[in-house]
Amino acid sequence: MTNSYPNYQLTNGWNALLPEREVQPALQGNQMADVVIVGAGFTGLACARRWQQLSPQARVVVIDASEIGEGNPGRNSGFLLEVALAEDANPHNMQRMLECNRLTEQAMQSIVADVKASGQSVDLVRAGTYRAAASEAGLKSLQNYKQFLEGAGLPYRELDQAQIQAELGTGFYQSGLYSPHCYLAQPASVIRAIHSQLPGSVEVYENTPATKISKAGSRWLVNTPEGELSCSKLVLANNSYTKDLGVARSRLSGVYTYAGLTPRLDSAVLDALGSNHNWGLLPAHRLGSTLRRTADGRLLVRSMHSYEKEDSPQKIRQGLQDRLWRRFPELCGQDFEHMWGGSVGITYNGAPVWGEQDNGLYVSSGCNGGGTVKGTLLGSALADLAHNDATEKQTAIPDIASLFGTPSWMPPEPLRKIGFHLSAALESWQGRQER
Ligand SMILES: Cc1cc2nc3c(=O)[nH]c(=O)nc-3n(C[C@H](O)[C@H](O)[C@H](O)COP(=O)(O)OP(=O)(O)OC[C@H]3O[C@@H](n4cnc5c(N)ncnc54)[C@H](O)[C@@H]3O)c2cc1C
Repeated sequence: MTNSYPNYQLTNGWNALLPEREVQPALQGNQMADVVIVGAGFTGLACARRWQQLSPQARVVVIDASEIGEGNPGRNSGFLLEVALAEDANPHNMQRMLECNRLTEQAMQSIVADVKASGQSVDLVRAGTYRAAASEAGLKSLQNYKQFLEGAGLPYRELDQAQIQAELGTGFYQSGLYSPHCYLAQPASVIRAIHSQLPGSVEVYENTPATKISKAGSRWLVNTPEGELSCSKLVLANNSYTKDLGVARSRLSGVYTYAGLTPRLDSAVLDALGSNHNWGLLPAHRLGSTLRRTADGRLLVRSMHSYEKEDSPQKIRQGLQDRLWRRFPELCGQDFEHMWGGSVGITYNGAPVWGEQDNGLYVSSGCNGGGTVKGTLLGSALADLAHNDATEKQTAIPDIASLFGTPSWMPPEPLRKIGFHLSAALESWQGRQER
């Protein structure tokens, strides 16, 4: 049986690099609210912000199982894409893609505005992103992404192996694309900054997992370890754990992926690592590895997947070291200063679980590996949807189903687990040179 909330075995390295912050107390006792939002990630905080704009008098309560910066939204690799994700990029449906790109860019700008307004020192730079391939399978996906960039009129630069080596210091990849439409961030500091910009009237309770949700007449009840919330509207913005509260079980699964961050490397080592000092590289293949060199001289590698359960620290360390050392053989023996995992909500076809799922129950979950900017967009649109349902005054809402699709059905356990392992084994084999 899985938990209804994350309880990670390893602490988040990005958060460990930041100064301590004052944690908001956990929820105590029984309380009433107009809306309760489960999950203070990119999706949940965007929803809370928009909800408060639309209904300034409403009591908006956000609860999170973890602490701001330590939990899932601070555990990612820090790629904030301003355009559609590679998985969403469809060169054969350009009209739809252009609208996705426009909305994604708008959401990105709201993150940038929050970070600026926070006055906090946040590492967020529009550094662009590389995508690179080490095998035939990767080259094929790269070609598809190139067609999308061309069709959308987005600038890019092609790189051969020698150019990648000169800029990034690795000879691992055969070919790559550089596109400027991406910010690179210290994700724990970004989510802290966004949280700091919530209006004071939005209440956030940290270390407050929802352990159960249920319906009582026209209201929803949310149980937490030390209290209970009763609300007329309930929003689930808790990614893969939505299904563990009994919602969207037939469409959502949870997969863990892992990251390792080195200490600051010596300047002699850094000098040999190419001309670009702050870069990020996304894999061309779905099961490949993400790489970053941070502005403060560290390398990050994100790779490996496990189904519904975290791997052991020993297995994570070995797997991530192997990937780092194969890309930078001169760093063989270099260990990580921090290493951690995070959960990603996935659907079979990559579409989000989004919309009203029951009377008064709204969901935006299933980031499918790229929900920082997209989650910001979907969370805000969800507040618009719920508001439109409640009032005559209607706000124009993007047609999320047409733009991002609707999630397809997945078989129940144990068939689903078997299916995951079979397709992961096949894809891993096909993309074995990209690992
Ligand atoms: C190692 C790693 C690297 C990644 N790299 C990237 C990247 O570079 N770019 C990108 O866009 N995405 C990346 N992702 C995916 C990224 O995590 C998501 O895109 C993003 O966090 C989604 O935001 P969200 O708000 O929808 O969900 P989450 O960030 O998952 O937020 C959900 C929140 O709900 C809380 N929660 C869960 N269950 C409960 C409960 N029962 N009660 C109360 N609270 C609960 C969690 O603590 C969490 O704070 C990565 C993920 C991992 C693990």
